[in-house]
Amino acid sequence: CQLIAPVVFLLLGITGILLVIIPIDDMREPPQVMYGVVFDAGSSHTAMYIYKWPADKQNGTGIVTQHSECHVKGGGISSYVGQQGGAGRSLETCLEKALEQIPKSRHPLTPLYLGATAGMRLLNISNPTKSEEILKEVGSKLRTYPFNFRGAAILSGQEEGAYGWVTVNYLLENFIKYSFVGRWLSPSRDTVGALDFGGASTQITFETSDMVEDKGNVMELRLYGRDYHLYTQSFLCYGRDQVLRRLLAHLFKTQGAGSLVSHPCYPAGFNVSLILKKVFDSPCTAEQRPNLYNPQDSLTVLGTGQYEHCLGNMSEIFSFNRCSFSKCSFDGVFQPNVSGSFMAFSAFFYTYLFLQRTTGITVTSPSLLKEATHTVCNMNFQEMLEKAPDQKERLQDYCAVSVFMQVLMLKGYNFDEYSFPRISFKRQAGDTSIGWALGYMLSLSSLLPEERTGLRKALRQ
Ligand code: AMP
Repeated sequence: CQLIAPVVFLLLGITGILLVIIPIDDMREPPQVMYGVVFDAGSSHTAMYIYKWPADKQNGTGIVTQHSECHVKGGGISSYVGQQGGAGRSLETCLEKALEQIPKSRHPLTPLYLGATAGMRLLNISNPTKSEEILKEVGSKLRTYPFNFRGAAILSGQEEGAYGWVTVNYLLENFIKYSFVGRWLSPSRDTVGALDFGGASTQITFETSDMVEDKGNVMELRLYGRDYHLYTQSFLCYGRDQVLRRLLAHLFKTQGAGSLVSHPCYPAGFNVSLILKKVFDSPCTAEQRPNLYNPQDSLTVLGTGQYEHCLGNMSEIFSFNRCSFSKCSFDGVFQPNVSGSFMAFSAFFYTYLFLQRTTGITVTSPSLLKEATHTVCNMNFQEMLEKAPDQKERLQDYCAVSVFMQVLMLKGYNFDEYSFPRISFKRQAGDTSIGWALGYMLSLSSLLPEERTGLRKALRQ
């Protein structure tokens, strides 16, 4: 008893001190975190993004961030034609990761979406039954998991462009911003345009005060009490992989459709053999496909590394001479003059980075883009390999892709010495990947209010 009394007093004392130095507020439960999952089913591959946000803060911008991402092994879901169950099974590894990374109690509250883009738009053109089957199959797979599955759908080109624009401006906090005095403010900042370059299509989206002459290019959004008048255009068959196919088909046709093709965009001395199916098994090359041809016939491609010829042939896959509007970008598509700043992501970023790594040139103007492209097209395979060994599988295509980017941006979209420097090439903002997926989840989960969120007390934020 003589010993117990001082120990009890000591413990009471320590507890008292602790109670005094830890403010009551900090002993509250940490705010609950909400999660959302989006599968970006692209043409070349599928990626899963897990997003998170505090349950008690839903409407501000910059509040939803990326928790993690998972890249599905193998090709895009559209590549599983003829392999029943394959597309669904390919998603399992990432789904298992989502089960581990999201706390169990949150699983049923976690919205899960799958959005497919141009790879599935193309399959929908060439084989609508198969595209429907694949979409159904991935939907059934996703439904077997304990998340709140909200659907698997093919996004239209306009949706893909607009959701990319929403992602960019949400991450830059261009819609509303939380001020240091504890209020949500509508910044009078201009929004930033979005340039997306995927595997099968490319998108351009920006706010414009000009009249949009083709209604198919208009997207009207109301976000946080403000109306946004957007111009958006998606070019199917102008994604990286389809452009490479179309260029080969063009060279094959213009060189007499024989079994040898000389390729001015491949590094000089670089040769490769492929089967014709690889070139013509796509709606994007249907026009160049010979009437009678054996898909298994082989084609030998000989690289010559000639920048001017590469540029000439690449320009021929665009059409610049027909336009029924006051102005067009290409292929008869209306486009107002580009205005404001832009963010260029996906393969625009990969190409920009490759040019920087191999030529030392940071592409910030049309002349620097031309110079860097020219330099890459004059390099042989070995020179490129020494500078970018991790890109071995793609090296032969960088001259073609850079030349394409040059024609698209300078001649197509008409970026010039004033507007080009306002493009920033990015893959991520903070830890969040830039693409349509975040904008898609925000819009479909009502995390983007139409009306102003009003004033809130700083404490409640
Ligand atoms: P994605 O952004 O996944 O739709 O890919 C768009 C295009 O970029 C596709 O043609 C991919 O093959 C290509 N790509 C994907 N990842 C990389 C990378 N790390 N470096 C270069 N190209 C890439």
